[in-house]
Amino acid sequence: MSQLQENLNRAEGYLKRFRETGVLNHIDGDSVPAASGATFDTISPVDLKPIASVAKSGAQDIDRAVQAADKAFKTWSKTPGKERRAILIKVAEAIEARAEEIAFTECMDTGQALRFMSKAAIRGAANFRFFADKAPGAEDGVALRNENQMNVTSRRPLGPVGVITPWNTPFMLSTWKIAPALASGCTVVHKPAEFSPMTAKLLVEIAEEAGLPKGVLNLVNGFGEDAGKALTEHLGIKAIAFVGESRTGQMIMAQAAPTLKRFHFELGGKNPVIVFDDADLDRAADAASFMIYSLNGERCTSSSRLLVHDTIYEDFTRRVAEVANKIKVGHPLDPETVVGPLIHPEHKKKVLSYFDKARAEGATIAAGGEKCGDEGCYIRPTLFTQATNDMSISQEEIFGPVLTAIPFKDEEEALRIANDTQYGLSAYLWTNDLNRAMRMTDELEAGMMWVNSENVRHLPAPFGGVKSSGIGRDGGDWSFDFYMELVNVSFPRKMHQVSKLG
Ligand code: NAD
Repeated sequence: MSQLQENLNRAEGYLKRFRETGVLNHIDGDSVPAASGATFDTISPVDLKPIASVAKSGAQDIDRAVQAADKAFKTWSKTPGKERRAILIKVAEAIEARAEEIAFTECMDTGQALRFMSKAAIRGAANFRFFADKAPGAEDGVALRNENQMNVTSRRPLGPVGVITPWNTPFMLSTWKIAPALASGCTVVHKPAEFSPMTAKLLVEIAEEAGLPKGVLNLVNGFGEDAGKALTEHLGIKAIAFVGESRTGQMIMAQAAPTLKRFHFELGGKNPVIVFDDADLDRAADAASFMIYSLNGERCTSSSRLLVHDTIYEDFTRRVAEVANKIKVGHPLDPETVVGPLIHPEHKKKVLSYFDKARAEGATIAAGGEKCGDEGCYIRPTLFTQATNDMSISQEEIFGPVLTAIPFKDEEEALRIANDTQYGLSAYLWTNDLNRAMRMTDELEAGMMWVNSENVRHLPAPFGGVKSSGIGRDGGDWSFDFYMELVNVSFPRKMHQVSKLG
């Protein structure tokens, strides 16, 4: 039996329960259908066949989940940090123990290749461990003294919070938002993306089996315009941690305005990778290719604009085209696959539309530029060359394995092109000139920059974007700043003169 067939059989074993029961909500420790009984199908991008029916929830389900989160908050927020830490470490261990189930389910639900998804659970567990270790000190503050007063700060968990996640690497991203919320003492109502609901259900089950008290993490499935909207509008929700498109972030901000919520937004990107002719070009070509063609290019930090020094433009883009042409596009459970099917036929249609736009705008298609096979959501890794930064392929987030290469003549032009976008999530810079790297990173408009490297995450480092790419940072202690309220208490240091009015 081939490895793919063996993996398919194992995946079927994991999916069987979802095929039988559907993907239910999880509220106050119970698996429940939507109050209305409504469902929708989640389809596999491999063959467009339904995998399971999913609870199609609305305001009533959100309200139930918020009530459960509110009740649980009274105890969870007072549970000592050491105890929260111990429970969250157990969650991390339980995630690791079910790594294969998580990976196979994610591959079938999202089309992401197993070679990358096999690490999703490991990274998800790492997120839980990292934030668990910070739970005991989450409330700590500082003492600020002057001659009269001693000010003492501390942090308190905000209350029940809403976490709204997208369909790209949904398991990993959910843990990245949920783990710090739980570590800080908040309780959570999670609304995962309608295109990829399955591993969110695994997460809440795993967490409760590992000892997370019921009601601390609640899951409500459904569409953004009903379940998502109701979550953002609910008075009982104190903050919204949102990962998704910039346009959706705008809507959420407007929806939540009447209830004055705190926001953390991780939004879209059109991230430049800038390659100067003094760089290590072998490493730069590998990194630039990896950052757009791994994870199907469905990655917020993907380097989707390749800015290349004009002296090496022909040679460098030829190297990247060679890589793109060699990439194996195939079934996500095939261990050899690098690029699997895109998440959904709607998204495939959107990505394909940019192939026509590129031609119409006068760019050259140096690799790919077409769909791949007739079944499923497969497209070929694509490279556009001879592009200019005003083209739609340079300005709009395509969110697929599609790279736009633009030449530049000097530092000034590289910087101007790099910053000429509404987005500012990440930027990648390749040069062996340290002074140039300093000058460029001083001026690049991006929340995160990597010099001579692809995106290598360090969990204590801040994560987030500027401009239309986001508001706020997480990672390290910044996640606790978001999920906790800072309070200050002032004590007199001596019997000072209280002002008298009469
Ligand atoms: P999306 O904005 O369409 O959906 C994200 C989530 O928001 C889904 O759960 C959806 O149901 C919900 N939603 C939609 N409308 C809503 C509304 N009116 N109210 C409340 N919730 C609503 O995004 P997507 O297509 O699922 O994901 C891809 C996008 O996510 C890309 O733009 C990508 O760059 C971005 N992303 C950003 C980061 C980051 O860290 N900056 C990380 C991953 C993905």
